[in-house]
Order: sequence, then C-alpha cells, then structure tokens
Amino acid sequence: MTQTTHSPDAHAHQALGVVRCPFCGALTGADLNAGAPSCSGCGKPVLIDRPMPVSDDDFHRIVRESKLPVLVDFYADWCGPCRMMAPVLDDMAREYKGRLQILKLDTDRFPEVSAGLGIRGIPTMIAFKDGQEAARIVGAAPKAMLLDQLKDVLK
Ligand SMILES: [Zn+2]
Repeated sequence: MTQTTHSPDAHAHQALGVVRCPFCGALTGADLNAGAPSCSGCGKPVLIDRPMPVSDDDFHRIVRESKLPVLVDFYADWCGPCRMMAPVLDDMAREYKGRLQILKLDTDRFPEVSAGLGIRGIPTMIAFKDGQEAARIVGAAPKAMLLDQLKDVLK
C-alpha cells in the first residue's frame, strides 16, 4: 500500500520512474527529478544518476510502470564494444536525469529477455516509451549518434 501525499499539481511535475532500492531491495516509485529521491519503502535516498543494473523481472516491471522513457543497455562483461559504451551511458544518465531512465541488463545472466526481443548482437540499446519499443540502436555508437536516434523518445 502506498499513500499519495502529493497534490495533483505537484504530481504533474514529477518524473516518476521505478527503481530498485539498494538498501531494502524494494522496487519503488521515485521522482527522478529529485537530487536523490527517497525510497517509498525505507526512506533512504536512492542514487539515480547512473545506469541501473536490472534482472529480467525488474526490466519488465520498470519498462511497464516507469512514467519516463527507459533506455536499456543489453551488454555482457566480456564484450569490448559494450565497455566502450559504458562511459557514454554514464554521461547520459547524469545529463538526462529526470527525463530518461537508463538500465543495463546482463545478457548472459538473463538471456530470455534478449531472446524475447530478438537481440542478436551486443551491445544493443533499446528505448521504451509507455512500455513500447520506441528506438533500437545496434552496436556501439558515439553519443551524438545515440542522441540522434533518441530524439523522438526524448522530446
Ligand atoms: Zn528502500
């Protein structure tokens, strides 16, 4: 049970994403515009200015429930081009905090998700808006190209 204490007006300015709290492990709604939004479960601040690792369950729930567009980086630890993308995505997580939620999913640990989405190579980055796939970038790409592909998602 969650209680809403925000007025409808304040709610309109909230960038509500869904995050996994590192302290209590709850999957919680959080205003991603806030500097460090607090977990609705334990009240501790949750860092949201970096890509968040997700499991397959978290992936499905966050894509479905987040009010923000979600960009998911499908990667593997052994993949060189994936490592090249990491600083770009770190940058974007800071720069687009409150506008875009960035997740990373380890395709070795959760192969069902990537199979379900027809991902054939990594890195693949897929943007979801309102739970639907809105853009897909296959292979490592410079930040400018990534942003160009995401311009409809971010507007
Ligand atoms: Zn918590």
